[in-house]
Amino acid sequence: MPLSTPVLFDNHGRPLEYLRLAVTDRCNLRCFYCMPAEGIQYVPKHELLSYEEMLRLVGIMAGLGVRKVRLTGGEPFVRRDLVPFMARLREIAGIDDISLTTNGVLTAPHVPELKRLGIKAVNLSLDTLDRARFARITRRDELPAVMQTFEALLAAGIPVKINAVVMDGQNIEDLVPLAELTRELPVDVRFIEEMPFNGGSHLATPDTLPWHHRRIRAHLEANLGELLPLPTPLGATAADYRVAGHVGRVGIIAAYSRTFCGTCNRLRLTAEGGLKTCLYDQGVLDLRAMLRGGAPDGEIETALIHAFRNRAANGFEAEAARPLHQLSFESMSTIGG
Ligand code: SAM
Ligand code: SF4
Repeated sequence: MPLSTPVLFDNHGRPLEYLRLAVTDRCNLRCFYCMPAEGIQYVPKHELLSYEEMLRLVGIMAGLGVRKVRLTGGEPFVRRDLVPFMARLREIAGIDDISLTTNGVLTAPHVPELKRLGIKAVNLSLDTLDRARFARITRRDELPAVMQTFEALLAAGIPVKINAVVMDGQNIEDLVPLAELTRELPVDVRFIEEMPFNGGSHLATPDTLPWHHRRIRAHLEANLGELLPLPTPLGATAADYRVAGHVGRVGIIAAYSRTFCGTCNRLRLTAEGGLKTCLYDQGVLDLRAMLRGGAPDGEIETALIHAFRNRAANGFEAEAARPLHQLSFESMSTIGG
């Protein structure tokens, strides 16, 4: 980070330096934990932020101390001209870390460009190595394309983190085979508690979640041996572990239990320009309205600072402040994960 870049702390003493930017709400898969099979209400195109609008907002946020941007969605590669957009993001002063979360279906042909752009890391969502289960979970038969992306990323030497959502009755038999990838390969495999952001159906509360982080760890240890905790970088959501004899690392993300809020350094910008200062809030600032209403940079900056200084202490507080406390009407595809 250039020395001149201010670091902004929120009202709970947490630095804000990481933006998760949803570049679209569209997706070419229909993972059942994220979206309904049919009848998805995509945001009309003109209501999505344009790349120009995103670049302007990232520029303003970089001036406030944001230095890391992760592109997500929806599926980022469904949006046209993603790679040229990334090249322009890289030119914003203060942004020194660009990464990407993708389902991998369309990604493989772009891997050489990602490498050229110096993309820091790619998170690849992969809940199973079994083709039939992949098709059932994502409602599309695309596992071979995803594996092609995985291989291309490894061959290019781009650090890969595999994200697997742990779903009761759906992919429990896959946890050990996925974790086994770390035996020979230099990858992180992270298991994520399922959250109720699926655009419609309901789920257990954190107390009754069938596969919470402790149970995931116990299951992995019963099959792989002890998980040895590794130091957690400040702001990380994953608890990382080493397994004796493995090259890569295993991680567990207590996304629904919310054990990591105390050091959360993330902001989220939804595809339609809503600012979220917590994954569990309902949006705290309509940045699209400000942009399209002609607000100058200074006014946007002031509104951002106000939002940062009024952050919920944790995901439970943010959830409680939602008017209807309903999480399940939202889809992760508009939030960006
Ligand atoms: N389409 C891209 C992908 O799947 O990687 C990026 C967007 S996706 C919404 C970002 C991440 O959110 C993925 O790793 C996905 O597994 C995770 N995710 C989606 N819905 C979830 C849920 N209900 N609970 C936990 N994680 C979820
Ligand atoms: Fe699409 Fe990613 Fe949601 Fe799956 S998790 S439906 S790939 S946005």
